[in-house]
Amino acid sequence: MEEKKPKFKPNPKLPRQALPVLNAEVRSTSAREVALGFSAEQVGIEAQRCLQCAKPTCVNACPLHIDIKSFIVRMVEGDYQGAHDVISEQSPFPGVCGRVCQHELFCEDACIVGKKWDPVAIGSLERFAADHARLRMKELTAEEPAHPTGKKVALVGSGPASLIAAYDLARKNYRVTVFEALHRLGGVMIYGIPNFRLPREILKEEIARLQHLGVEFVTDFIVGKTATVEDLFEEGYEAVFIGTGAGLPYMMGIPGENLIGVYTANEFLTRINLMEAFDPEADTPVLVGERTIVVGGGNSAMDAARWAKRMGSETIVLYRRGREELKARLEEIEHAEEEGVVFHFLAAPVALYGDENGFVQEVECIRMELGEPDDSGRRSPVPVPGSEFRIKAQTVVAAIGQAPNPTLQKATPELKTKRGKIVIDEWGATSMAGVFAGGDVVRGGSTVILAMKDGRAAAAAIDRALNPQVEVAAEEVTQ
Ligand code: FAD
Repeated sequence: MEEKKPKFKPNPKLPRQALPVLNAEVRSTSAREVALGFSAEQVGIEAQRCLQCAKPTCVNACPLHIDIKSFIVRMVEGDYQGAHDVISEQSPFPGVCGRVCQHELFCEDACIVGKKWDPVAIGSLERFAADHARLRMKELTAEEPAHPTGKKVALVGSGPASLIAAYDLARKNYRVTVFEALHRLGGVMIYGIPNFRLPREILKEEIARLQHLGVEFVTDFIVGKTATVEDLFEEGYEAVFIGTGAGLPYMMGIPGENLIGVYTANEFLTRINLMEAFDPEADTPVLVGERTIVVGGGNSAMDAARWAKRMGSETIVLYRRGREELKARLEEIEHAEEEGVVFHFLAAPVALYGDENGFVQEVECIRMELGEPDDSGRRSPVPVPGSEFRIKAQTVVAAIGQAPNPTLQKATPELKTKRGKIVIDEWGATSMAGVFAGGDVVRGGSTVILAMKDGRAAAAAIDRALNPQVEVAAEEVTQ
């Protein structure tokens, strides 16, 4: 896209605009979206804070290399559609990423303005451009879809890794089919992340862009059960991408874990998000007790805690490290606090106790202190002997991480794995010819944007494998 010279004088000293949110009282009983998005006036101010750097570090820091400088210059001029077009060159998911990407770890962390003041709110600007373009995208996707004619590629799983690979491959005329085990598309973005963070219609509309490009989606199809990877090759697919994610929850491994009222975050969130289980009238409701304890400090823990609160339960997050070490997006932590979720830091569960009917009633915890840094670079929690204490709770949700989904790997012994994760080379290729992988099934629980980065790199590698004359740029390769 043509480079635009800024016609404005950047002013980074203007205050970073706060994202308006639904008030905490309303949202504690509602599944409505919490973050409301900037007003046009706020966009005008925030976009002007961008220095329009000659060498924009934010663009390099974005795993998709979105041309942030160029889209922001258009936002200052009120050309929101133009801004959306710039983003769309790299990503069909600005509505999703504008809401759930951890910008503070990537583009906003690299923003030069942030060295002296608060960084430019790139995520909120991206979201505004996406929301502005929704009507036009709806009209566009209602038109006759494209009919690619190239080679056939199968993508397994419909999470962000596969979806961006589908976008890139379909734009290169490949005939792409996405096979998804569940009945809904989007991976964690549909079954894990709640509607109050990522409204379903936004995800659906952005996936519709792929359908418009001619991508086919097959749901209720488990690769490894409904068909094997070999079967896909026999069906004429010339390459397969595995983006099956990390949906196998870790268990706490403590006595009482099988009591009624104890869930993994995976089950709790899937039942609520996909099966409307927050509604007591639903076929399979999830009933929370007077008090819920959520164990963990990542995005799953925040989502589970915020749902439990919305379902009327007093909610405590029990985390074995301190607030600084929480892994969830900062915005979600702050929103959880505003909504009245209580945090107990430096404590971990050691046993669960139930009543005579097998319903959980109490959690025995132990206090922790922080020791030496562990493999993750964070200081590791160390139990304090003799510091046990008990908290009453009728619902317990374990949100302590997930391992890769194992079904496909079990049915495909030729695939090399390490601790359940599929092993890939620098091109995203697995040990099986023609089979590529990326996202959480390779990294373990990670982020939407890194899954997209992997999907993009694998799509480039697949293109190169199926069209050997194609050159792949170094930055498209997973390191
Ligand atoms: P997934 O999104 O897990 O998708 C994999 C898909 O493959 C699933 O739909 C699954 O059903 C399907 N599948 C599995 N096995 C098979 C099979 N054999 N055949 C066919 N289909 C199969 N990251 C952020 O950046 N921001 C956030 O706010 C955020 N919040 C999160 C909240 C929760 C509750 C969780 C659990 C994670 C969150 N993450 C967040 C992490 C992020 O969602 C993941 O890193 C990302 O979705 C991984 O993408 P993926 O494409 O690798 O896999």
